[in-house]
Amino acid sequence: MFKQLTEAQLDPILSLSIAYREDKRAEKLDLGIGVYRNSQGETPIMQAVQLAQQQVMESQRTKAYVGLAGNEIFNQSMMDLLLTDTSAYHRAAAVQTPGASGALRMLADLMYLAQPETTVWISDPSYVNHKPVMEAAGLKVKYYPYFDRVTKQVNREAMLAALAKAGPKDVVLLHGCCHNPTGADIAFEDWQAITTLANQNGFMPFVDIAYQGFGDGLAQDAAGLKYMADHTEEMVVATSCSKNFGLYRERTGAAIVISDSLKEAQKAKGRILNLARSTYTMPPDHGAALVAAILTDDALSATWRDELSQMQARLVNLRASLTQAVRAQGSEAFDFIDQHKGMFSVTGLSPEQIARLRDEFAIYAVGDGRINIAGLREQQVDYLAHALVTVSQ
Ligand code: PMP
Repeated sequence: MFKQLTEAQLDPILSLSIAYREDKRAEKLDLGIGVYRNSQGETPIMQAVQLAQQQVMESQRTKAYVGLAGNEIFNQSMMDLLLTDTSAYHRAAAVQTPGASGALRMLADLMYLAQPETTVWISDPSYVNHKPVMEAAGLKVKYYPYFDRVTKQVNREAMLAALAKAGPKDVVLLHGCCHNPTGADIAFEDWQAITTLANQNGFMPFVDIAYQGFGDGLAQDAAGLKYMADHTEEMVVATSCSKNFGLYRERTGAAIVISDSLKEAQKAKGRILNLARSTYTMPPDHGAALVAAILTDDALSATWRDELSQMQARLVNLRASLTQAVRAQGSEAFDFIDQHKGMFSVTGLSPEQIARLRDEFAIYAVGDGRINIAGLREQQVDYLAHALVTVSQ
């Protein structure tokens, strides 16, 4: 049977990692794969996670199944992080999923179940998995204009003009904060404007928030999402603990459905559980158990918040010093890096320029021009600035 299959396409980011590992040059820099790194170039287990891990090890007495919705304390904690102080808090239901990836797919399946003719509008460009996941669920995908490749900022007018055409059969997928790949976020006024459009024209907002805490801080990063949740009847959210808890391989995330009543939200939750049952049945427990232990303990929570704000500060500082270093080379062409949020920035470099970065400077970045700021070490800021200016001339 399988002889009929054609070969799978290689994942461009994974092949980049392999090439990086094999590169012998001492000055090499990996700005490709999307994981947070500290100043030593490591992705360590967070202190709060280590402490929670000890707690869970000592208190866990069984590995029996938890339940289709996963850890309900975790689910509640995710709603606390994202929806506290909104009217939506009391008309929302959450399901633990294998990462935000699992949440994206479960929510896509739910939308297909409710309305198979749904079109999901995603930003141009968007997270590489958005389109394939939505399409795998049977949904149609369209792009709305987002990133202005000249200013490296959001093209607000074009975005709002396109979204003004979305209607009741449409879903608009937004990044909660720290847009992947561009780093260009919509402003709070844009959240308000899109909320008004959703209410006028009947489309449903779908917010994917995978980097809460990496932009301006935990609360600030959810401000737009909260406003929208507060002012719309129906909305869905995919959230991830991969980055802000450093739990990548533990596959920890949640799908949240907000409806006009708790009863409706619970009904949707029940249907997600049916969908989960026919795929992976239950999410893995460990990561969610750790997050629940952290977020229900004041001391652990404080440790986590502190570590997260240090990670955020590192990104903000790297962005500022890289921009300064480029300016010191006589160029203002990369000033946008300081305005972008989170780990990523789309630099506007062409595939040829990205290839020059790799060949001449041992700097590895994705072919679409995205760089991961967290991959940078403080002592290599000047080196990267010099390389960026050289290849862009
Ligand atoms: N959404 C976005 C925007 C992402 O960047 C990512 C991860 N890179 C995900 C979802 C998936 O995250 P997870 O590891 O939690 O599945």
